[in-house]
Order: sequence, then structure tokens, then C-alpha cells
Amino acid sequence: MVLSVKNIAPMIRAKRVGNHPSILIDNITIDSRSQQNSAQTLFFAIVGPNNDAHDYIEELLDKGVRNFVVTHIPGGLVEKANFLVVENTLEALQTFAASYRSQFDFPVIGITGSNGKTIVKEWLNFLLGPDYNIIRSPKSYNSQVGVPLSVIAINEQHNLGIFEAGISTIGEMENLEKIVRPTIGILTNIGSAHDEGFANIGEKMKEKLKLFSHAKVLIYNKNKSIEAFLNPKVQRFSWSCKDDDADVFISKKSVLDKTQLKIKHPQGEFEIKIPFQDDASVENAIQCIMVMLYLNYDGKVIESRVELLYPVEMRLKVKNGINHTTLIDDSYSSDFQSLKIALDFMESQKQYKKRALILSDIFQSGLANDELYSKVSQLVISNKINRVIGIGEMIHKYRSKFVNCLTFKNTDAFMAAIDELDFGYETILIKGARSFHFEKIVSALEEKTHETVLEINLNAISHNLNFFKAKLKPRTKLMVMVKAFGYGNGGFEIAQLLEHHKVDYLGVAFADEGITLKNHGIKLPIMVMNPESTSYEAIIQHHLEPEIYSIKGLNAFLKIAAQKKLKNYPIHLKLDTGMHRLGFEVEQLDDLIAILKAQKTVHVKSILSHLATSDDLQHHEFALSQIELFEQMSMRLMHELSMKPIRHILNTSGISNYPKAQYNMVRLGIGLYGISNDPEEQPYLENVGTLKSIISQLRTIEAGESVGYGRRFIAERKSVIATIPIGYADGISRHLGNGVGYVSIHGAHAPIVGSVCMDMLMVDVTDISCFEGDSVVIFGEDPTVITLSEKLKTIPYEILTGISQRVKRIFYRE
Ligand SMILES: *Cc1c(COP(=O)(O)O)cnc(C)c1O
Repeated sequence: MVLSVKNIAPMIRAKRVGNHPSILIDNITIDSRSQQNSAQTLFFAIVGPNNDAHDYIEELLDKGVRNFVVTHIPGGLVEKANFLVVENTLEALQTFAASYRSQFDFPVIGITGSNGKTIVKEWLNFLLGPDYNIIRSPKSYNSQVGVPLSVIAINEQHNLGIFEAGISTIGEMENLEKIVRPTIGILTNIGSAHDEGFANIGEKMKEKLKLFSHAKVLIYNKNKSIEAFLNPKVQRFSWSCKDDDADVFISKKSVLDKTQLKIKHPQGEFEIKIPFQDDASVENAIQCIMVMLYLNYDGKVIESRVELLYPVEMRLKVKNGINHTTLIDDSYSSDFQSLKIALDFMESQKQYKKRALILSDIFQSGLANDELYSKVSQLVISNKINRVIGIGEMIHKYRSKFVNCLTFKNTDAFMAAIDELDFGYETILIKGARSFHFEKIVSALEEKTHETVLEINLNAISHNLNFFKAKLKPRTKLMVMVKAFGYGNGGFEIAQLLEHHKVDYLGVAFADEGITLKNHGIKLPIMVMNPESTSYEAIIQHHLEPEIYSIKGLNAFLKIAAQKKLKNYPIHLKLDTGMHRLGFEVEQLDDLIAILKAQKTVHVKSILSHLATSDDLQHHEFALSQIELFEQMSMRLMHELSMKPIRHILNTSGISNYPKAQYNMVRLGIGLYGISNDPEEQPYLENVGTLKSIISQLRTIEAGESVGYGRRFIAERKSVIATIPIGYADGISRHLGNGVGYVSIHGAHAPIVGSVCMDMLMVDVTDISCFEGDSVVIFGEDPTVITLSEKLKTIPYEILTGISQRVKRIFYRE
């Protein structure tokens, strides 16, 4: 792209402020964290419901960014950069993308639907890749910001585009249509996802079909109710496995682990095998075959390529590596766009300062190799990668473009040398095209633990955070409780994400939890709820802020603080208003006031109390009485000590049930981790943790035979039993044994039979088709932690925090 700030201003109808309008822009971003931001970056300051990117402008100026699209210029910065002032920055980004798109005239495939969009896109990219220079949406960039950012990456060499578009409510598709302008449309399966945003399925369908309003052709699974909404001007190219009125009729049958398709199309008939059996994959493969038919591919070519389709892995996974390394596993694709995304992700994962990149040849960049590898080299430098290990003929040829670089002709050569490469104390991004089989590298470098993992969805955490933030008044501060290792979900990783989201405070239970966070570089202030007097020294040394709840504790802290000659050290006063756990009582206020008046060593940063019944409206009156007492006690302290501390009393359910008592801050806990005490609120939260394991062994037993300790399960019929390597030592209660609990295997419920053992449990899979090594969900979407807690007559908190530390945590973004 060769556009200057001056050129872009009229494209987005912006008012231009600043003295360097001829700066050429080579990078457009909304991500303040990206290391790729430079003086040639144009930053769109997007204003979300909970986050305002204008807050990052000052930081970005320090990093050298000089061009911003804004709704207003933050105070004092007018002179410092080029500003393009618009009414709405998101709309400006979309307008820019649409105008940019209109400069290119080549076929563009637009995909929407509820399920399968990303897979169809990735597969088409694979199937059509040999014949086209393809630009496609990276990962699942299909939102109101993802689509424009994808389209802006088009360059002169591309001759086919594949973009997906996703919407969650009415009115959104029209914007996306203008940006994508698909010539070939694909409608994938319409399911019930995101139904909240639509009055009914008809409305949702109508909205989705808007993506195709200017398309030449629409490919879809023939269905009368869809056709009722179709624009008659758009040519239809339909398929069906049931209705022989469709343009292409397909009959299918299973053969071993594949599916055989007989395809009858207007020009003839042929048969192919696809390497999948499940309905969703078969349907996605058919959509791809339809595109190939539309583009006049020969049956033989279709057959030879479709046979090679593979499962798509969309996530970037973070794993613990051998010898103190962190692996970022992106071993399924290598194109320039997704390399940028992976490097940005690496930046957000600051586990180790030293960084290595293992990279295969890059395909389909649309650039000549010489230019491509120069650009890759620049990326590597701006992301402060310490060493590059290139694998493949091309990257080997261009190795001189990199500074600290070692190359291998192929993956096997690398594997032979892996021990000499001394991986250790570094973050390693592993990024390669499928054909390089980098999964071998991941498996060699991954720390070997047992197969059970707790996968943590970082996007879901952000979503839940924003959900609760939206309930706060604009000036209410937010403390997030990350005690008990982030409710079992990982302390440091979550704290780091919260720091990025600019929450105001973190709360932990014990000093050592806070110390771990500070040692990992967390800068946010941290309140410690149970500071033991033996930990006061360490608290001060690490700038943690103690919650003081007794006269004895206060005196002890003052003594140490005075010895250290501290002034105004921040402390938090806990009041007991009815919980009767920790805190000063009304009768102690006089003493408390007297002590605080007589000193200057500490400074009361906040006053807090905790509700005993915020989740239970039956005890509504009691909660109100606590709030009332908090008001009186805190007012008295503020008055007599002439101070204005932060006041806070609400936890997660308090935020939902007592919005008037937000005071200056709230303390969010369980809600962040995707759990609400209110069944009506629950659907709005996203699941954060999925506890997964695998099937270690399958066996068939006869009726009358038993399973496990004490023979507590006796088979009533010939049964297939699967053994799963997770037990009560991992935090799975024994009370889930003997049919009380179940696990999910390929979406089906398998009841736990017999007693849960220390490291294993057994389930009945007689009615489920599965194999050894298959994945098993212990909790996540189904069963949920809430379901488990109901079966165990406990609360979700106990289940989450009970998952033992030996279970490896894997963090990922969608
Ligand atoms: C744990 C805790 C919270 C958070 O409670 P949730 O119900 O998880 O939101 C808030 N305040 C205090 C004092 C806590 O101990």
C-alpha cells in the first residue's frame, strides 16, 4: 500500500491535524501492544463498550507511532503527531477498508453461516492454493474489526480473496458486505449460535444473506426456507444429499474411516473419498467441492486434492516446554499475515525475555521471495527475536537476510540436530506450514506430563471482564480477585491479561501469591486479604498493600512500617458489617480512629466490607443492612480522619444484584472465570476453563463382570469401558463415582462407573464410538462446572480451585 496520511484523510472523511501529512503508511493497526508499530503505522483508536483505545495514544507516542485516527485529540498531544479526527473510528476503519477493497478487481469468496466458516476458508485456501495467489482472513478474523483488517492486507499480487464474515446482531452484515464485496458467496450451516442478537431464525438468516447482495453466485445447501429470502438476481448453485432438484446431488456412504461421495453435477458424475466421517466435516468439504465445480475444476483434480484435507487447528496454543521454555504452537500455517498475528501473540506472552522463532518456508504471501524474506526479517527485528531457525529450501536460500539465523533444508534435518540447539530459558514460537509437520518439533520440545490439561480460553476471560465492566458506572474502579491461583485458572497469565485491560487493582489472599505476581513483573497495585504478621516484611519489600482487619494487626504493621521509616504506606481497612469473618466492628472504631490519627506511617487507600448474601435474594434485607452499616461506619472514618479513600463492598453477584452500592470500586471474582450465581445471567458469560484428558485404554467386559476397587460396578450387559488418567489427586471428587458424574466423549455422555481412583477413573462407552487416545472433556461446555457442583452439592468455586497444580494449564486465544 502506498498511501499517505494526506491520501487517507478524504477516504475516511476525516479532519486532518498535524504537520507531517506526507508520511507513507505501511501498517494499519488497532493493537496497541503490537511490536510492529512504528512511525509508518496508522493507529485506529477504536472505542469499545468497555475499552477506549484513546487511552493508549500517549504510550504509543513514546514508542514512536505518529499517526492516529481518533474521535478527539487527547489533551496536550495536538502538536505531537498526525491526527485524523472522525466521528466514529470503527466506521472510519470500515470505510477505509471498503474504499481500499474497491481498488481491486478479482474474484472474492465471501463465507458466512453459523458453523464451519473458518474451516471452509482454510480448506479452500489449501485446495485452490496451487492455482491462485490467495489473500484470506487470518485465523477467524470475521468481526466488525477483523474483516476490515483482513481486507486491508490485499496487495497487487493477489488474484483471489477468501474472507469470512460473522455477525452477532442485526445491521452488522451490511457493513461487512461493503468491505468484502464477495463475488462468490458460500452459506455454511446455520445453527443457533448467537441467537440472542436476533428476534428469530428468519431475521438471522435475512441478515446473513445480506453478505451476498452483490454476489454473482451463491453456493448453499438447498433449503426452501433459505430460498424464500434469496435475492432473485443472485445466481444459485445449490447442493443437496436429499433433494434431487438441487444443482448438484450428492449421495454419501461411510467406508472405514472415510466418507465416499458420489457427486452428480450438471456436466457429469464422479466419486471421491474424503478423510472424515462426521457430518460437519463432510458438509464443509462439500461446500469446498462446490466452489471447485463452480470454478470448472476437473473431477480428477478435485478428487486428488480433497483426499488430502486435514483437520484445521485454529488456535495458537501456549505450552510448557522442556528446560524452562514456553512454546507457542502455531504449527499449522505459514503465511505472512498469520506470522504477524503470532508474533503479536508472542509479545503478549512475556514469560521469557529471550525469544526464538522456528519458521518454515512461507507460502502464498503474494510477494516475490526476495521482498517477502526481507519483510520477514524486518518483522523479526521489530519483535526482538533473538534467534531464527529456518526450515525449508526457500528460507535456507534467503538466510543471509536474517541476523542470528540457522537453517535446515527440512524438518528431519532439524530433528537430527535438535539437541545441539540448546533450547532453554526462552519463549519459542513454532510456526510452519502443514507440509513441514512441525507437530514433530512441538512434541519433541513439549514438557512431558500426563495427558490431562486444563485449557484456559483467554478470549473468554476478556469477554467476561467486559460483560461486568459494562455494568459499572463510568467512574467505578475495578479490582479483580486472582486469589487461589486465579480461581485455579493460572495466576500470572490472567494477571497479565488484566493488566492489559487496565483494571485498577488485583486482590490476592496471601502475600506469597502477590509476591509471585510482582516477581513476574505485574505492575498493578495488589491488595493482600490475609496478610499474616510474619509476612509484613515481605509485603513491604514487594510493594503489596495489606488489608488490615484488627487493632492487633494494625499495631504490628505500624511498628514494622515505622522501623522502615515509611511514610503514607497504602493499607486497606476491612470492616465487619455482618459476614463475621474478618474486619473491625463498630465498637472498635474509636480505637482505630485514635491510632490512625496519631501516625503518618500509613495511609488508608481504601475501606471495604464483604457481603454474606449477595447471591441470594431471599436474604435481600440482610445485604441491604450490611450496605447501610458499611455506609455509616465508613462515613464516620472518613469524617473523623478527614480522608477520601476508595470504598468497596460488592463481589460478582453484588455487582449484578446491588448496582447502587458500587461506591468507588467493586471486586470481581468468579464472574471473570465464567460463572454467575444467577441462571439468567449465566448464558451471557463464556466458558473459560475446559478440563480435558484422553482415553488411555478401552476394554470390553461381559455382563456380570466388575470394574474397579470394591467391585462397585457390575456390568448388566456386555460393556465397553474406557480408562481416563485423571483421579481424585487431580481434584476430581470421589463422589462423582458410581454413576453420579459423567464425562463427554465426542459430545456424548459417558457415565463414570465404579469408584474414582487416585489417578484414574473409568467410564462406560458402550454406546459411544471412540478409540484409545480420543479426547475426553471432564468439564467445560458439557458438563459445566455448575453441573458438577450441583451433583456434588457444593459450589463452583470449590471445583475450580480444587483442580490440582499437577494438571498442566494451557492458555489459548481463539
Ligand atoms: C473472593 C472475594 C471476592 C470475590 O468474590 P466472587 O464471589 O468470586 O466475585 C470479593 N471480595 C472478597 C473479600 C473476597 O474474599
